[in-house]
Amino acid sequence: MRIIALAGGVGGAKLAHGLAQILSPQELTVIVNTGDDFEHYGLYICPDLDTVCYTLAGLANPETGWGRVNETWNAIKSAAALGGIDWFNLGDKDLGTHLERTRRLKAGDSLSQITSDFCKAWGVQHAVLPMSDQPVRTIVATDEGELAFQEYFVHRRCAPKVTGFRFEGADEAKPAARAQEALQSADAIVICPSNPWVSIDPIRNVISIPAGKPVVAVSPIIGGEAIKGPAAKMYRELGIEPSALAIANHYHGTITHFVIDRLDAPLLESINALNMQTLATNTFMANHMDRKRTASEVLHFIGASV
Ligand code: GDP
Repeated sequence: MRIIALAGGVGGAKLAHGLAQILSPQELTVIVNTGDDFEHYGLYICPDLDTVCYTLAGLANPETGWGRVNETWNAIKSAAALGGIDWFNLGDKDLGTHLERTRRLKAGDSLSQITSDFCKAWGVQHAVLPMSDQPVRTIVATDEGELAFQEYFVHRRCAPKVTGFRFEGADEAKPAARAQEALQSADAIVICPSNPWVSIDPIRNVISIPAGKPVVAVSPIIGGEAIKGPAAKMYRELGIEPSALAIANHYHGTITHFVIDRLDAPLLESINALNMQTLATNTFMANHMDRKRTASEVLHFIGASV
């Protein structure tokens, strides 16, 4: 059974890690959002890609879910002491990743190749692919005007009121070659519990999910709230009540199966009416065991023989 997981950062990485504990490297490919990527201090930074890679490598900071474990912050602190910008935290080890990625991109290597080489060095056996090797930038439309994604997310801490999104470059960007191949030969697609607006929609704007295969999504909204991040706030600001039902509507037409949290079981009937199979279970992944258990339930639900 060949599974493709579509992932953003923190929530996506958790389920991808659960899947990687069950599926072999031949059976799992993770395609990651690059709409969050940006250039900062002249460095090319891929927050979601790095979160997924660090998580699969066992190098992620367990407290934040992003960045590296046992990190130090000397470089960014000394830059700040000189008047440098410090709203985007860059750890010393993490900086090494950005330095080498930037050097390789400038030398003409593709983001896919660089990511694959980094994964090898970190001992990540499953394929982790950027959605595209060309730049796509998520732009958040707000009541204060348009903001580049990290400006909105990190610098402004998601405070401006969201009115919409656009994905600059998505029309011209091609899916990364290996990502499109993997999708064609996949038996099923798993949409991880990532932010639908800014983690999964950028991917859906660049790659087409082939029809006729099971596509299962796991709701990132539990009990009307996001575990982390602005997903619920975004729905509210866009005039939609945040709920597992709102997520089901978001993915309607794309997904065949939907996994919601047990807490949201009262929504089962309304979601089933959207013509998708629905499973209610415990989807909060507090530790490694939870990730594996959730992944296993998702795979059984879509009939994956593993
Ligand atoms: P980001 O790019 O780092 O913001 O990460 P993602 O978009 O991949 O993940 C953010 C989403 O993950 C949020 O909407 C959270 O609600 C969701 N999330 C985080 N942890 C969990 C979890 O344990 N279970 C579920 N169901 N969703 C989660």
